[in-house]
Amino acid sequence: MTSPSHAGRLAGKRAMVTAAGAGIGRATALAFAAEGATVLATDIDTASLASLVAEQPSITTRTLDVTDPAAIAAVVVEAGMVDILFNCAGYVHAGTILDTDEASWRRSFTINVDSMFHTCRAVLPGMLERGGGSIVNMSSVASSIKGVPNRFAYSTTKAAVIGLTRSIAADYVARGVRCNAICPGTVKTPSLADRVRALGGDEEAVWRGFTERQPMGRLGDPREIAALAVYLASDESSFTTGTVHVVDGGWSN
Ligand code: NAD
Repeated sequence: MTSPSHAGRLAGKRAMVTAAGAGIGRATALAFAAEGATVLATDIDTASLASLVAEQPSITTRTLDVTDPAAIAAVVVEAGMVDILFNCAGYVHAGTILDTDEASWRRSFTINVDSMFHTCRAVLPGMLERGGGSIVNMSSVASSIKGVPNRFAYSTTKAAVIGLTRSIAADYVARGVRCNAICPGTVKTPSLADRVRALGGDEEAVWRGFTERQPMGRLGDPREIAALAVYLASDESSFTTGTVHVVDGGWSN
């Protein structure tokens, strides 16, 4: 078990993670804790946070819906000091532009982009006051990097995340606050399994399809994304800001 005093790459830093109950956010919360950060893990799903604490008792949790700006502000005030913000929450709407109704379009922006607007606005004043901080935003290869079929609203929002990231980086580059984006390819997480199930039909064939489009012949593991998040959160990446990091097993190459 890792104690918060463990002298890792994030020792002495306080990290807040959204969507930390499952998938990439969970793997990253665990990796942050393993590197010595004091971790505040948030998620809309309280039960998933309880299982995270069962796995790593040093992690503190708060139930948080990233679509609730007042709740975000309250959690950040309560946290007091956030050195690292990992904005991981995201929602995948499947479909072309013609499959995307107004509600799905709005929902995609609310969860994927507005949430980051609110979390960044909440943590930035404290980071600027202390003269340091690292914000890591979850984008995707499905964004301005690569056109992916049936990911119209999702890719549009994830491209917006890149714009948001670069703008924040540019505005605060001289004030010690860094902001970078991570763009994964397809990563094997519980929500991906849900999406495969939701498609109905031959699940094996869908998994084969996902795997076959991967040049490495396999999907990503959440821990492979978490490793990059640790690097961007840590002082090892102190000369890195406004960048977009692709971690996709060569998919977009
Ligand atoms: P996921 O979609 O399985 O969700 C992880 C957690 O998000 C869950 O615990 C869920 O409760 C929480 N969540 C859902 N709505 C929320 C809300 N409104 N507020 C707070 N928490 C909420 O996780 P994932 O597949 O690991 O994806 C995490 C991020 O990575 C997303 O932004 C996703 O778009 C991005 N991403 C994922 C992949 C992939 O293949 N899995 C690829 C590229 C990018």
